[in-house]
Amino acid sequence: MTQETILPIKHYIGGAFTDGVSGRVFPTVNPATGEVITEVAEGLAEDVDRAVAAARRAFDEGPWPRLKAAERARFLRAIAEGLRRRSAEMAYLESLDTGIPIHQTKGQIERAAQNFDFFAEMAVRITGESYPLDNRFLNYTVRRPVGVAGLITPWNTPLMLETWKIAPCLASGNTCVLKPAEWSPLTAFALSQIIHETELPAGVFNMVNGFGETAGDALVKHPGVQLISFTGETVTGQLIMKNGADTLKRFSMELGGKSPVVVFADADFDRAVDAAIFGLFSLNGERCTAGSRVFVQRDLYDRFVDALASRVRNLRVGDPMDDRTEVGPLIHADHLERVMGYIALGQEEGAKMLVGGARHPGFPRGNYLQPTLFVDVRNDMRIAQEEIFGPVMTVIPFDSEDEALRMANDVKYGLAAYVWTKDLDRANRMALGLEAGMVWVNSQNVRDLRTPFGGSKFSGIGREGGHYSFEFYTELKTIHVALSDHPIPKFGQ
Ligand code: NAD
Repeated sequence: MTQETILPIKHYIGGAFTDGVSGRVFPTVNPATGEVITEVAEGLAEDVDRAVAAARRAFDEGPWPRLKAAERARFLRAIAEGLRRRSAEMAYLESLDTGIPIHQTKGQIERAAQNFDFFAEMAVRITGESYPLDNRFLNYTVRRPVGVAGLITPWNTPLMLETWKIAPCLASGNTCVLKPAEWSPLTAFALSQIIHETELPAGVFNMVNGFGETAGDALVKHPGVQLISFTGETVTGQLIMKNGADTLKRFSMELGGKSPVVVFADADFDRAVDAAIFGLFSLNGERCTAGSRVFVQRDLYDRFVDALASRVRNLRVGDPMDDRTEVGPLIHADHLERVMGYIALGQEEGAKMLVGGARHPGFPRGNYLQPTLFVDVRNDMRIAQEEIFGPVMTVIPFDSEDEALRMANDVKYGLAAYVWTKDLDRANRMALGLEAGMVWVNSQNVRDLRTPFGGSKFSGIGREGGHYSFEFYTELKTIHVALSDHPIPKFGQ
């Protein structure tokens, strides 16, 4: 496959690929070159209406919610197989669209397939609870699909995040409309083709491309949609919750982050350096759980900073299609500008820029930025408080455990946190004290699909992953059954 052979991207509605009602299109652009890859159908409210109507019909009249769970699981496994069959092409498309290096997108395509396999297995394990009351009542709960879900996803790791939502949504019997991010539509389209080939009943999965303010907004406000699972920026999440209030949507919100990495003097030095570098510079720094604030204990500070600086200087920046590339171009020229704005701000705020800080001189085209390291940062600087979402690391010294904990928590976000120490008691104290949805101890960001994923504070509401996904994607119903005659007051006798 080459860029030239990529076809224009359409919507997928009611089991058919279709242009938008308006006929309008927008380009998707290669971040490594600035060239237009292909045109994308621009969905507007009318397209969302059609997609929601198809999803509604499939839910109300179609077989999907009424199929045996094992039957639904069979479709999910077929989608996983399709992804694996086309994994080389999918990784190519993802790298082409996002600039994420290919050795990283290869891993993400496999993760996307695993998402379907995992939730296929989980689908047949959904259970209820029973509350027997003496011999008089048997009260029990069942989980039912909710209806039509709107799934709204960002441009970083697009396919992985889309499948993270689609798989549990469909596994539990809902139907859905996906609105992928406008900067990265390629793999969502390829996924729609794979889903189409599995002969999933029409209308169960629908996809409308387009911009957030139009297509996304129409989905959020649509009275035919009950659920919105959103991943993206915190301010967008806040707006979506306001806009969905009139139709009383149920929300899952996976939002921004500014996650601390706390390195104590007794940490395993080499592993902590490896993890800090990988945790920030993988995915080009465009990672929600990036460890973007690195707190280092004073005794270790100079040595750790030296090691970070040498590694950041050595990062292999290059063509995302080259297997050796570690950092590729940023997703979009606008995003590059935003990240560079933060680099300028860091200098104005008085942080010491030790490495990088400019467009990469080796690449006249594309959104290439030099990996950047700020040290001697103060926690109250904006570069230590706001999500930059690029290859920019900030390092902050600390003296005591109390100070580290206070500074790590002194931020509006609470998605992830990382602790490096060999002292078990301290590791556990820190893990309990850190205000984050997820804490990794002496570990990089290794995911276990069974565990709840999500953030606290301004990083989100709710958890997805494992059976927690079903708490969002199912309606819990309680059924009360009388097992014997119980007193019923005789009013009006
Ligand atoms: P974004 O908020 O700009 O856009 C995300 C999606 O929302 C896109 O599909 C966009 O079109 C849509 N959207 C925008 N405005 C909308 C509106 N008014 N109504 C409905 N939909 C709308 O985010 P982004 O720039 O694409 O992604 C980066 C952000 O995502 C970062 O903040 C990152 O931390 C966050 N993120 C969070 C997680 C997590 O799990 N917590 C994972 C990945 C990314």
